[in-house]
Amino acid sequence: MIRKTFGCVRFLYNRMLAERQVKYECYRADKQQLKQQRYRTPASFKMEFDWLREVDSLALCNAELNLKTAFRNFFRDKHMGYPKFKSRKNPVQSYTTNNQKGTVRIAADGKHVRIPKLGMIRIKLHRQIPDGHVIKSATISRNSNGKYHISILTEYAADIEHTIPHREKVLGLDYSSKTLYIDHTGTSANYPRYLRQMEVQLKRAQRVLSRREKGGSNWKKQKLRVARLHEKVSNQRKDFLHKESRQLAEAWDAVVVEDLNMKVMSRTLSLGKATMDNGNGMFRAFLGYKLAERGKSLVRIDKWYPSSKLCRTCGTINTELTLKDRVWVCEGCGMLHQRDENAAGNIRAEGIRLLGMA
Ligand SMILES: [Zn+2]
Repeated sequence: MIRKTFGCVRFLYNRMLAERQVKYECYRADKQQLKQQRYRTPASFKMEFDWLREVDSLALCNAELNLKTAFRNFFRDKHMGYPKFKSRKNPVQSYTTNNQKGTVRIAADGKHVRIPKLGMIRIKLHRQIPDGHVIKSATISRNSNGKYHISILTEYAADIEHTIPHREKVLGLDYSSKTLYIDHTGTSANYPRYLRQMEVQLKRAQRVLSRREKGGSNWKKQKLRVARLHEKVSNQRKDFLHKESRQLAEAWDAVVVEDLNMKVMSRTLSLGKATMDNGNGMFRAFLGYKLAERGKSLVRIDKWYPSSKLCRTCGTINTELTLKDRVWVCEGCGMLHQRDENAAGNIRAEGIRLLGMA
């Protein structure tokens, strides 16, 4: 049933995409016209393809929503790329269903979950749903290793008591491609060595894969090896990011970060994959919700704020500073600055100002 649902969701998504594509080609020159176009609903496809009724109808609705989001993102930011067709050959497949008054629920024994059309299925519950959380939706997915996962989205319904931040308990973080972050006291995240070693191993395995003849039996073997390694590395990284963000969320009242657009950053600074790979975006997301759960806040400051170039002691701006300069001396006051620590200090000061504590 899960595989059948994947298939139906993918079919509907592709059909709807094809329909939109025709209209997009016709009316792309005229934005007003394009906006006024109407498209077929999942219900209308069900009339034509009867077998679509055999799967969870909410999964089909979500396919439509996903496509709409994909187009909205594309129209907003052309870098997002035009929505792509989904392939049957992609081992990664998923669908999302919503909870309607208990249609998705964890059994009292903690070993089963109820999913529409599937009934009670046995699971390995990875994390308890905390008190006061209500299940909103569940995404059933298969990863490239052929393993099945259910991700459950919850909403915190109860009121959280808001923490009023103390000045000395505000943390400023500067992004670092090597160690994840450096804070305003000069401390950096303890990016584990084993994780870095695993990342090197993964890169090596990927290089081997690129040398294999595509589709050959050695290629297939290597592909599986890469996929397994990839899963392991990403789990280890996630584990580290969870621990790191939890510690910070518990120790500090508020955390200030730069609101970086990671995609733009990796492009303009040509730092390449390293920028995206150490999981900074994920780290921010974890930190954000972990702080929110505790009634604390993650403050994002403007990405154009000159955090690196500003002297945190006297406020002089060093216009000559380049990306290579790790240490610099302020012309205004003669202070010697560690680049990242100084930047984190400025980010913190700006955050304190935004929090209205200056
Ligand atoms: Zn200075």
